[in-house]
Amino acid sequence: ELISNMHQGVSNILVAVRCRPLTKKEKEVEDFKTVQILDGKLVIITEPPGPINKRLNEKKYAFDFAFGENVSQQEVFNKTTMFLLEGVLSGYNATVFAYGPTGAGKTYTMLGEVDKLGIMLMSFIELFTRIEVLSNEREYLVKISYLEIYNEIVRDLISPSTGYLDIREDPDKGITVSGLSELVATSPQEVIECLRLGNKRRTCEPTEANQTSSRSHAVLQILIEYREKNTGIETEKATGKLSLIDLAGSERAANTKNRGIRLIEGANINRSLLALGNCINALYEANLKGTKTYIPYRDSKLTRLLKDSLGGNCRTVMIVCISPFAMFYDDTHNTLKYANRAK
Ligand code: ADP
Ligand code: MG
Repeated sequence: ELISNMHQGVSNILVAVRCRPLTKKEKEVEDFKTVQILDGKLVIITEPPGPINKRLNEKKYAFDFAFGENVSQQEVFNKTTMFLLEGVLSGYNATVFAYGPTGAGKTYTMLGEVDKLGIMLMSFIELFTRIEVLSNEREYLVKISYLEIYNEIVRDLISPSTGYLDIREDPDKGITVSGLSELVATSPQEVIECLRLGNKRRTCEPTEANQTSSRSHAVLQILIEYREKNTGIETEKATGKLSLIDLAGSERAANTKNRGIRLIEGANINRSLLALGNCINALYEANLKGTKTYIPYRDSKLTRLLKDSLGGNCRTVMIVCISPFAMFYDDTHNTLKYANRAK
């Protein structure tokens, strides 16, 4: 079954899937890959053959983009984030999420690794390059904040001494987090250092694939203020915001089976992740019908924080990370089904 796709411009939501390679350890266990990518847009998922199902059971899904294991960090950035920057430098808000189960490549995609810069840092490098070019006409100020949402508690990752933080809605400033530090950034190097320190302060370091870190969302917000120069009059300042988010693992939220178990585990299901899915679905419906629909932003900390960055004339990009490892087949398939609903 080939499920058709909503494209950018129609829905303001772009969905890309990225499948990572098998790790060395995984290959030793089982080198069958459950995922194949075709034509940069199609994802074919194959159920691993077992003693009962000898026939290969395949499903096909289409997305705006599908990236296979050999697609570089740069190409993922170019296709998912680069096109947002012009708007962000001109006063619009945009959001990029990495969604998917633990171990599927979210942190690799957003934060990156040594010599494999992720979207967060590539965004800064590109933003600073463009600001340099635009600096004849405009005066820019770049500020960053970095926070974590863990168990519906918001914590500052730049200045952790501030304790738990409140999200507020200000009639003039929009959504703000009271007491959250904002760092004025003047170079990508400064930002690299800030992210490095911030990640050390996450409830658990994001590089250790363990239960705790997989339940926290890391939110980097880049605030871009500017004023037109040489207009002869004092001009108003405009602000654009780019939110880059390494989401908590989706393995629980994406599981649509086992209602009973879900009930028992209720407290452990990530509220922000569920609310995000509901908001994106509601925005998609609203877009489709062209009517005003109730969007349940208030249901979680994450969606309250992003109220001014999802929907309206904001652009939203979801990078859905998956693994081809046979043992993750169920998680992978659930993730694709979830992503398919988001388009
Ligand atoms: P997550 O943040 O979703 O839990 P990680 O980003 O930590 O997952 O990735 C899990 C492992 O897979 C890491 O060892 C990482 O280096 C590796 N990995 C993820 N994506 C890729 C990729 N596209 N290419 C190569 N290695 C990857
Ligand atoms: Mg991670």
